[in-house]
Parts: sequence; structure tokens; C-alpha cells
Amino acid sequence: MNTTLLVSEQKNATNVFKTCVDLIAMNAFLRYQKGMVLADYYPSQDGYCACGCGRKLTGRQTRWASRECNDRAYEEFAILKGGTSAVRKVLFERDLGFCHNCGVYDENWEADHIIPVSQGGGACGLDNYQTLCPDCHKEKTKNQRESQSKEYSLHAFSSDATVLL
Ligand SMILES: [Zn+2]
Ligand SMILES: [Zn+2]
Repeated sequence: MNTTLLVSEQKNATNVFKTCVDLIAMNAFLRYQKGMVLADYYPSQDGYCACGCGRKLTGRQTRWASRECNDRAYEEFAILKGGTSAVRKVLFERDLGFCHNCGVYDENWEADHIIPVSQGGGACGLDNYQTLCPDCHKEKTKNQRESQSKEYSLHAFSSDATVLL
């Protein structure tokens, strides 16, 4: 049993997609987000799938170990870039239009940034999005405006990103 090989084949298996908190902690990255290209987010992994799934590339594969890796990476990238249709498609698949706050389905559901764009949340993946009904969304935005200066400004770009959780 070649355990060394097993370990090395799994070297990228964790952290498939960077979390919002990770991204916000990478302030330098955020500054360049507008000009970001796919390769910045999924750099080549030296013989392994660039998506981070940990699988080895075989045959003529140059970046992705499977069609799914490729599709998922492009989808995640579109979300990171704030593509509205990409966000709504994937968010609906996850939440099915049910409001995260009141639990009611609303056909006019809205995509809400959990960490607001003004705090760096605009550069995040799906983990920073939640479904809200229009009423709850309005309420959240209103409360946010009122408490923002107090609650968020202290912590939003703190290096101790866990305060955001
Ligand atoms: Zn992969
Ligand atoms: Zn609601």
C-alpha cells in the first residue's frame, strides 16, 4: 500500500472553494477583483485539478479533472464576479425561493449579501448569499443602515475574521 501517494493525491482536497471570510481577509485580492480572471482564482495545480478537488489530471487534461470541475469552477467564478443570473440560478437551486428569515416562499425572492457589499461582501461566493423575501430584505437593509456605523466598522476588515461569524 503506497500511502505516500494517497496523501499527495489528496493534497488539495480541502478548501475547494474559498469562503467569504477567507476572501475578505485577502484584502489585496479584493482590490484587484474587478480585473480578476479565472486563472487568478484557480491557478494551475501542477498536475492536479485546478478546482481543488484533489484529483490528478490524466491524459490530455490540462486544468480540470472532469467536466463537472470545469462547469462548477466557471459557475463559482461567475458568482464571484457578481453575475446576477449566475447568483440567482445557484441560489434558487439551494434555497428554492424560501426566505431565510421568515421561511415563507415568495416568487419575488431577492438575493441578499449576508455580509454587505459595503463591507467587502460583494467579492464573495455563494456562501455570502441568502434568499430573502422583499419585506425581510427591506427590513434588513433598513436595520443595517442604522447599526452599520456602530457594529460593522470595528470588525469588518479585522484580521480576526471569525468575528464576522
Ligand atoms: Zn476538480
Ligand atoms: Zn421573509
